[in-house]
Amino acid sequence: MVKAVVVRETGGPDVMRIEDVEIGAPGPGEVKVRNRAIGLNYIDTYFRAGAYKTPTPFTLGNEAAGDVVALGEGVAGFKIGDRVGYATTLGCYAQERNVEARLLVKLPDDISYETAAGMMLKGLTAQYLLRRTFPVKPGETILVHAAAGGVGQILCQWANALGAVVIGTAGGAEKCAIAKAAGAHHAIDYRSEDFAARVKEITGGKLCDVVYDGVGKATFPGSLDCIRPLGMFVSYGNASGMIDAFNITLLMQKGSLFCTRPTLYTYIAKREDLDAMAEDLFAMVRSGKVKIPVNRSYPLAEVVAAHKALEARETVGATVLIP
Ligand code: NDP
Repeated sequence: MVKAVVVRETGGPDVMRIEDVEIGAPGPGEVKVRNRAIGLNYIDTYFRAGAYKTPTPFTLGNEAAGDVVALGEGVAGFKIGDRVGYATTLGCYAQERNVEARLLVKLPDDISYETAAGMMLKGLTAQYLLRRTFPVKPGETILVHAAAGGVGQILCQWANALGAVVIGTAGGAEKCAIAKAAGAHHAIDYRSEDFAARVKEITGGKLCDVVYDGVGKATFPGSLDCIRPLGMFVSYGNASGMIDAFNITLLMQKGSLFCTRPTLYTYIAKREDLDAMAEDLFAMVRSGKVKIPVNRSYPLAEVVAAHKALEARETVGATVLIP
């Protein structure tokens, strides 16, 4: 039996319970992993609250790192003792779990479990957003919402390293300073300022080539007013709630904009893509150009407090849970 965070009925943070669960042997194509560090992600709150549907009961969590402790039938390329990281598979808030081998990435020796648990979901997301969804080129101007957050700080550092002009939004002066320290050239406190007006001012009316928006409802449609004609709106999350249905003609009115709502699940569906993306991410981290902003860790048993802090906008950077 191992400890795991189980949700029997979706709702607020208090629905999460630590339970003893039986993991069993890994099935065909699966690997059993003893988790050493687990990533806390905003997506976990969507599953816990029932905004993203999955049958109950279930174990929360989408990002972790640990050691391979058993191999299922037909698994090639991994051995017992390998250090691995993985994301996009529910069930990570647990001391041990079985994971499909296709999702596992071997960790380089110089990347700690905590760093890996802060980047397998958040860092791979930054990778595809900046390198594939809208490949950012030197001199382009980008807007990153919630720039002091987990994904936000990685986006700012990476985009800065790519030579982009980075504008970040964040809630409050302290978070704006953190966004700047992470590589944002300009920071806007979107709690007290009209961010679209400020973007217009900062860019001298030229606006941004792309907006990366993980905030959702609260920054829509303002984000569209920050994008130059033919630019791209990338809506990759909904920390403030989901964007309501809108008439697509709005994209025409705002300047023939492109709009996408991507997820990491699609971008790592092919093994060769996952390998290439992880290689790119590890290279950026090892070069020092991107530092994974693990800012706080909680024992897994304190997961309720961790979710409350995340939803109260009290966190900066990434948070990990230690099982
Ligand atoms: P963050 O650390 O960024 O935390 C969320 C932040 O959103 C808060 O700290 C807060 O920053 C901001 N925010 C704005 N409005 C609200 C609100 N009403 N309630 C709570 N927070 C609010 O989280 P993550 O790094 O884990 O994730 C960032 C986003 O990326 C999320 O939307 C997540 O779902 C998305 N995501 C999407 C993926 C994909 O593939 N599509 C993969 C991974 C993450 P502030 O106080 O500065 O406003």
